[in-house]
Amino acid sequence: MRCPFCQAQETRVIDSRLAGEGDQVRRRRECLQCVERFTTYESAELVMPQVVKRDGSREVLDHRKLRTGLLRALEKRPVATEAIEAAISRILKRIRHSGEREIPARQIGEWVMDELRELDQVAYVRFASVYRSFQDVSAFREVIDGLEQLQPRESRLPPSDDEPKDQ
Ligand SMILES: [Zn+2]
Repeated sequence: MRCPFCQAQETRVIDSRLAGEGDQVRRRRECLQCVERFTTYESAELVMPQVVKRDGSREVLDHRKLRTGLLRALEKRPVATEAIEAAISRILKRIRHSGEREIPARQIGEWVMDELRELDQVAYVRFASVYRSFQDVSAFREVIDGLEQLQPRESRLPPSDDEPKDQ
């Protein structure tokens, strides 16, 4: 594995552990030449189904797009990177396990919302408002109703930094 800092060929693995629900290996590497350290993620390459978009067009599932969508919703929210990576892994697993060769973008959006609802309510509402466009009040109410069902569990979470504090 070539060093991204000095392009030397020789690097050594200094730490190796499972990541993303156990279907990834995270390796910490050190360059033998410049001694810089970097991280690589290794995962099995599997054929993913095509995504069918709203207009009927198809495209190959893009992991980066999925990640960008989640990260945008979670921007500045108090959620650990590991928790986000685990959520992405679960979504990809659901896509792979669907056994379908084509999967509607709408279905993937619903799975993303399932994960965000568990991770962070603000991110969930953010994503849902963009994703469902909130064209009418009932769509918004549906999202809020989905949150209220989770209240007993969510209320045990510590308050976030974003919340206004009493002086
Ligand atoms: Zn190097």
